[in-house]
Amino acid sequence: MDNKIILKVSKWKDNAVAPVIFMIDDIANISVKKVSSSHLKIGEDWGQYGFQKNSMWDFLSKNLLNKFTDIKTTFFLVTDKRAPMAIGESYSYNNAIDKDKEFIEFLQYLEKNPSVELAYHGTNHGKASIKHEDFLQEWETFKSLNEAISEIERGKSLFKNIVKSYPTGGKYCGYEAGKFGDESISKTGFKWWCYHWDGILWDKNINNSKYDYDLTLNKGVVDIPSTVDASTLSLKIIKKLFTRKYLKSLYLFLTEGKTIEKHLDTLYNNKEVISIQEYSSPYRTDNRIQYPNIVSDIDNLNYIFSYLSKKDIWYTTCNELADYYLARLNIKIKFIEENKFIILSNQDLSSEITLISQFRGKKVSLCDSEGKFLLNFQKKRDEIYVTYSFERNKEYIISILN
Ligand SMILES: [Zn+2]
Repeated sequence: MDNKIILKVSKWKDNAVAPVIFMIDDIANISVKKVSSSHLKIGEDWGQYGFQKNSMWDFLSKNLLNKFTDIKTTFFLVTDKRAPMAIGESYSYNNAIDKDKEFIEFLQYLEKNPSVELAYHGTNHGKASIKHEDFLQEWETFKSLNEAISEIERGKSLFKNIVKSYPTGGKYCGYEAGKFGDESISKTGFKWWCYHWDGILWDKNINNSKYDYDLTLNKGVVDIPSTVDASTLSLKIIKKLFTRKYLKSLYLFLTEGKTIEKHLDTLYNNKEVISIQEYSSPYRTDNRIQYPNIVSDIDNLNYIFSYLSKKDIWYTTCNELADYYLARLNIKIKFIEENKFIILSNQDLSSEITLISQFRGKKVSLCDSEGKFLLNFQKKRDEIYVTYSFERNKEYIISILN
């Protein structure tokens, strides 16, 4: 047997098959009361009610996050007072993120929670018109690159004042870039961004090279795809049998053989990004239900995460995913002796890296340049791997015992 050591960077951390992100749009200092009682009903809160009973967070924690504790959630935060869907409509409560003590404390709790990430989602989300369909999404309202940049900088400052750090990434409102979107994102220091609704490849068979299910770079920013609409119901959610969403899923299955399970399996088998898309609340100012939303979809979400829990998944935030991807792109492994290597990179490594090797069946360990033991390689499928916070330009030794 050839004993030459092979080391490769694993596509995903811990040699997992695919990463999973849980994305919730439009967390905001907003509520939409449907019932004129002083009690909050489930679904009426977009975040304003913080930890209170029946708040968005209370509902989500009790009905999903406390059951699946590995989930990492990325919330997309609207920073200023949000526009209604049409002129003349209003929220029951609507304010900027820096106006209420309770909401500020809630955001600061989320920021410190290692299972949660807060990301940027504009200032006012756009501009209302007389008709709902004429609503202009925030990036569509910018008339110049300078205007886009200065509004992003204003929103980032609002974010930083409350969250205490700048957002590392975010998402276009309504996935609409306008004329200056991509340029404005790359010029305002974001590391990652959600540019498109990539799930359209699957549900509408729309083929366009801008959509894909893997990570790419867009003007130096990591493009994180949005791939799974969590309101696409599994046909096993019998409780929803006569709803419009169930009939849509049934139609997709009968006409094209598509199911949410097959979509998840395909992303997984292709080692692509499983990013599960949701909204914080079903209620908008125009009395329509917005889909997906965590309340209508809660049974389906439980089903999806239970389905995924049987797979070899990396639950991660967008920021961690972007860091890992950038490290994977930037490093080179160079052997300087038979069992001694160095990791070359033109920038500091802000992520742990997973290296995979052959020699399954042997005891393999990672040591520092003096031969001091650091970690054992672990076995997964046909490979062995080690995850470590390597430093660039430092020497490491692989030790192999028979
Ligand atoms: Zn939004």
